Amino acid sequence: TVVFLNGRFINEDEAMISPFDRGFTFGEGVYEVCISVGGKIIDLEEHLARLDRSLNAAGITLPPERSLMPGLMHDLLERNGIKNGFIYIQVTPGKTVRNFIASPTERSTLLMSTGPTPLEESNAYKHGMRVQVIPDIRWGRRDIKTTMLMPQVMAKRAALDAGFDDVIFYDDLGITEGSSSNVFMVTNEGELVTRPVSHQILSGCTRNTVIELTEQNGMTVTERPITRDDLLQAKEIFLTSSTYLVVPVVELELDGKSKIYSCEKTKKIQNIYMEYLNK
Ligand code: PLP
Repeated sequence: TVVFLNGRFINEDEAMISPFDRGFTFGEGVYEVCISVGGKIIDLEEHLARLDRSLNAAGITLPPERSLMPGLMHDLLERNGIKNGFIYIQVTPGKTVRNFIASPTERSTLLMSTGPTPLEESNAYKHGMRVQVIPDIRWGRRDIKTTMLMPQVMAKRAALDAGFDDVIFYDDLGITEGSSSNVFMVTNEGELVTRPVSHQILSGCTRNTVIELTEQNGMTVTERPITRDDLLQAKEIFLTSSTYLVVPVVELELDGKSKIYSCEKTKKIQNIYMEYLNK
């Protein structure tokens, strides 16, 4: 496939990044994943605004192509013949001597790639996920969408080995988020709840859109902490992300207890979100 690297569209086989890129030596980097539906990039402005926030918080200089990115992203999709797919964006500080603190680089590294995604045809979207609830061992700035993803990879690998599809993390305040998604629950009283944004979770573009859409459709979302016990008491649980869209959790394991969930309201929200994607 064709990728975009530092100002140029090139074949992935010809794309080269320095071994001294700080993304490699220090794991310094931030990223975004957006989807394209019929050639339209969903929540494009929100993703790019979050990229800017992540870059600023991480002290990484904006790439020189920043203002051209919406056009470049559409161009990348077209060059790869993709209408329904994902766009991956990664920015690192670029190449320096291997010192923790080094003088500014010539430019930050910007890589963009794309590929197809199954979206609503996915098994998880249709049939839901089985999820394990585990301690959140990540760092204290989860609002920065960093490429330092080892805790997520390790957690997800362990969950898959144990026969689950994904994990939900918890910290001292309760449920944080999924390994790459935000968590919503529907209580027995029908209340729709998700955790408020803070440094402890990523402000999900899908999360924020789902809150807006549900409110436009006469539902209210309460933003408050969710405890582990709340999850066990809940009627429905669902996860949101750009690639999952809205995915029901059908079964959950927590401290050796397991619970099955229905997904009536979740299916309604899936449909509302799908309408938004195809608008
Ligand atoms: N939380 C985490 C940790 C994520 O990695 C992601 C997406 O990858 C999300 C939430 C969902 O964010 P979005 O809806 O913007 O894709």
